[in-house]
Amino acid sequence: MTAQSRRVARGVEGSEEKGKVMNIEIKEMEERRAKIIVSNTTPSIVNLLRRAMIADVPKMAIEDVEFHLGPIRDEHGNEYESAAPLFDEIIAHRLGLVPIPTDLNLFTFRDQCSCGGVGCPQCTIIYSLSKKGPCTVYSGDLEPVGDPSLAPVDKNIPIVKLGEGQALLIYAIAVLGRGKEHAKWQAAQAVGYKYYPEINIDTKLCDLCMECAQSCPVNILKSDGKKIIVEDNEKCTLCNTCVEVCAPNAIKVIGRDDKFILTYETDGALKAYDVLIYALRILRDRFSEIEKSLDSIK
Ligand SMILES: [Zn+2]
Repeated sequence: MTAQSRRVARGVEGSEEKGKVMNIEIKEMEERRAKIIVSNTTPSIVNLLRRAMIADVPKMAIEDVEFHLGPIRDEHGNEYESAAPLFDEIIAHRLGLVPIPTDLNLFTFRDQCSCGGVGCPQCTIIYSLSKKGPCTVYSGDLEPVGDPSLAPVDKNIPIVKLGEGQALLIYAIAVLGRGKEHAKWQAAQAVGYKYYPEINIDTKLCDLCMECAQSCPVNILKSDGKKIIVEDNEKCTLCNTCVEVCAPNAIKVIGRDDKFILTYETDGALKAYDVLIYALRILRDRFSEIEKSLDSIK
């Protein structure tokens, strides 16, 4: 048990096996989505990275919503009822899911903040929302109190439709949290990995019948006139259809268990690059803690 834990710890820090260093190659890095190749590793380590991205990387989300009660008046003296067609709890839940821009160098957890958890610009964002019906309330109607760059990243998420004479006056408080506490704090979405596909075609057994190419669901097998070529092996889903339609042993498709394609998205609260870096930092810190504890046992 002890030896096993130590081997994993070294794996995250770099050397899964002696002389091998875990390597991360960024294939695609957009603001909200990324594709990376992780090699010289094992499925368990890649899964650790996936789980850290989903459950451990923090982000800001609305946690408390205060609804004004009683009549609301506009500047012309018209009176509105503090009401909406949805329960307050549902509106609060929808506001909680609105992506809030998160700078992890700026924000800290409330219970770890120098303010002692009272709430300050380092741990809390306050939003106000004031809408009078008939209208649709959108995420963009949340106005940050203070820094305007903290406005929600997507402005067009519908929250609730207000009818004639209805109005909402809301104060909402966003704090830092983790995906393992609630999905609204989940920094990365659609995180998945697959074994790196390798396709080998025996040219001696291939008569260019093209049946493999026609059967391929992702259409990556082509002919250059003399032989079958694989256009983009990373698109292969390891379905093995080409292997089944071709002569025995002519095509070999394998998914490597030491190299993986990891893809993920973010909702815009964090940049995809920041999610990766933060998740790796979390794993590094966690395993150095384990290593320290093991040293203290000796
Ligand atoms: Zn604070």
